[in-house]
Amino acid sequence: MKIVVSMAILWLISSLSMMGTAAAEPQAVNTEVLFTDVNIFDGKNNRLHTGQHVLVSGNKITKISDVPVSVGEGAVVVDGSGRTLMPGLIDAHSHIAVNASPTEMESSMDLADAGIRMTLKANNYLMDGFTAIRDMGGHAAPIHRAIEAGLVPGPRVYSSEAFISQTSGHGDLRHYGDPNPTLSGVDVTNLARMGVTHVVDGRARVLAAVRQSLMQGATQIKIMAGGGGASKYDPIDTTQFTEDEIRAAVQAAEDWGTYVTAHIFTSKAIQRAVNAGVKGLEHGFFMDEETVKLVAKRGVYVMPQMWGMSPELFKNPYVTKSKHGAIREMQKNAPNFVKWLMKHKVKVVFGTDDVGDMVIGQNSRRYELFYRAEVFGNFETLKQATSVAGELLALTGLRNPYEGKQGVVEEGALADLLLVDGNPLEDISVLGAQSEWFSAPPPEPIETLRVIMKDGVVYKNTL
Ligand SMILES: [Zn+2]
Repeated sequence: MKIVVSMAILWLISSLSMMGTAAAEPQAVNTEVLFTDVNIFDGKNNRLHTGQHVLVSGNKITKISDVPVSVGEGAVVVDGSGRTLMPGLIDAHSHIAVNASPTEMESSMDLADAGIRMTLKANNYLMDGFTAIRDMGGHAAPIHRAIEAGLVPGPRVYSSEAFISQTSGHGDLRHYGDPNPTLSGVDVTNLARMGVTHVVDGRARVLAAVRQSLMQGATQIKIMAGGGGASKYDPIDTTQFTEDEIRAAVQAAEDWGTYVTAHIFTSKAIQRAVNAGVKGLEHGFFMDEETVKLVAKRGVYVMPQMWGMSPELFKNPYVTKSKHGAIREMQKNAPNFVKWLMKHKVKVVFGTDDVGDMVIGQNSRRYELFYRAEVFGNFETLKQATSVAGELLALTGLRNPYEGKQGVVEEGALADLLLVDGNPLEDISVLGAQSEWFSAPPPEPIETLRVIMKDGVVYKNTL
């Protein structure tokens, strides 16, 4: 669906500008856009294809050539002058609807508050070069619908809707005195009302929760299958949901043509989840080598937000202080974790776990890009954020809202493209990567991102 420049968008743009946020500027829809003289990072290979010409017709890349390409009347020509053309970035672990601190979300917000913030966040994702996000929990389907209807600018959104947790699990966000949803039939927390979490136990209730999320527009399902760093009742070593409960979630998702991914850390929990048919692992830092081999053999995707292995983690106000010791233990596994993922050729995707306060969240993305590149190198990080993440989005199968490949620059792929000053394979900072997180100032527009195109529509062009 094409964005039409409407009064609503113009109003939004001026409002965003007044708030000091660079606003996406959808430009008149052209049937053809030609990028001349660009060096292509294709999302897959550790080199640039130099001196190329790339034609976009409608929402697809239709021609890539090393000789000049002719275009029809009315086509827009963008002179690349040797800049890098690459796929739009993909964040495989966002929480676009969980966009304030847990205290604010719980005590002073409702769905409208979260919705207004979602529109701002969708814009800042797109303006940071992200053309797709895979949302890992929160009522994000409405922003997907608003973006697709052309009401607000933003990336492609793959929502999981509420994450699904057992009682006392990582998604149990109640206070001690609150009634238990499974036992009492009601969930009184504001976060449950806002569609952030379902707390359920037993096969029947897991099935109902999965089907509820699918009804609300989930494209994949997220479960909490192990302890966490920012939750109250579950030590990080705990294993959550029985194999039967996980199988129930997987069955309901697969009956809908899609898959389940799991928040998870330990080998024990990962082996259980993978054996029950889970196709994605969020975090996964505690894995031993045997488990890494199993994950590789089953073709399961892993999303490790590497800031979780960085010193910055201890500055994160959302990480419970009592868990710092367990996290320090976990971080000792970091060098092995990365080495084993690479050695056994696990499908690793880029993700940021951007959650909570808007400024902290946006800076966490820019820091993740920096720190991931420190650990995995620039090429591996870029591949994780483009072609591999694009494959993961396609796992949604029949529930995929979009037709066409994402995360690659090749003929026939969706035209989600960035034109960048410099070569990100050599200098990741041209994509906004920054070495600071909590000490970083509020994010400014990324000036080296010269053109941002999504679905064939140009949202930023500073050339
Ligand atoms: Zn998360």
